[in-house]
Amino acid sequence: MKIPFFNYQYLFKSKEEKFIEIITDIGNRGAYILQKDLEEFEENLAKYIGVKYALGVANGTDAIWLALLAAGIGKDDEVIFASHTYIATANAIKFVGAEPIPADCKPDHMIDPSSVRSLITSKTKAIVPTQLNGRCCDMDELLKIAKENNLIIIEDAAQGLGAKFKNRGIGSFDKGATISFYPAKNLGSFGDGGAFVTNDKKMYEKVKILRDHGRNEDGIFVDWGFNSRLDNLQAAILNFKLSYYDDEVKRRRDIAKLYQNNLSDIKQLLLPPSPENDSDYFDVYQNYEIEADNRDKLKEYLNESGIGTLIQWNGQPVHSIVALGFKGSGLPYTEEMYTKCLMLPMNTSLKDEEVLYICEKIKSFYE
Ligand SMILES: *Cc1c(COP(=O)(O)O)cnc(C)c1O
Repeated sequence: MKIPFFNYQYLFKSKEEKFIEIITDIGNRGAYILQKDLEEFEENLAKYIGVKYALGVANGTDAIWLALLAAGIGKDDEVIFASHTYIATANAIKFVGAEPIPADCKPDHMIDPSSVRSLITSKTKAIVPTQLNGRCCDMDELLKIAKENNLIIIEDAAQGLGAKFKNRGIGSFDKGATISFYPAKNLGSFGDGGAFVTNDKKMYEKVKILRDHGRNEDGIFVDWGFNSRLDNLQAAILNFKLSYYDDEVKRRRDIAKLYQNNLSDIKQLLLPPSPENDSDYFDVYQNYEIEADNRDKLKEYLNESGIGTLIQWNGQPVHSIVALGFKGSGLPYTEEMYTKCLMLPMNTSLKDEEVLYICEKIKSFYE
């Protein structure tokens, strides 16, 4: 068997006829920028998540950056984020003029609230927790810390569309959340794309103006702004894909169950939280990230067996990137975890027998 880590061709092949129909329709209408397909998608996205507002933007990184700008985060501010995230989270913080302060994570790989607490100074203004691997952080703890210290929370939910904590979806907790539609994300477009979702009317109005050159709905320039709009064509495709997104999430959760059932006896592994363990969490499994003893040998062995795996962020937690001025140490769980973390294939192109083959190979490696 040959099982790639991610099947980029399948993205298009899965519903090729329908996608071509959408592209033809958009072309015939000449509807490219800020058209009704984008508005429809924004409405449906907000409805799907259970928030009041959604705005399509150019990509997930811009979404974080624009949200921070809209919230007034800037010069002399410190923003705490999880070191176990994509560099994009830190870049967005840096490019509003604030200082990105990396925090440790815990065994479910989500930001560790006690680490957040220990990093708060008089300059701290915000927390940007990453809703990583399709899971929400313990938002009760983070909201408590935020309230006690007068901080805002903007969720980097690039990987979290559809994830819930105590029945609340991403974006509903404080100032809002940012989503990425990068092709390999849970809801992937055919290029770059992102969104900002929120219940906060002021945040919505500010991001809406910021993403379109500082223009309001009447085309009047009312503020400084940028060009960061989600293409109408991508929005039309995403709108269609959103209509069956629940089925995709169900499939991902079924794959997670298969992994769980077939790997949980292996003592050398730490698996992600099971989809059925804890009713506080509803995980959408953007990734299936395990911790494995002898990780590099396992990765090599799986590769030789035709199975593609990936170490997230190229094996570099953000705080390890000394070239950007980070200390390189001081977050013990993250540092230990990065010697063991590995992502197994997790996407809707996978068949049960492929997942079982992966599990068999992992078993035989440890035997
Ligand atoms: C993918 C990702 C981003 C960046 O999203 P883009 O759409 O690629 O800009 C940011 N944060 C996290 C956690 C991501 O996984």
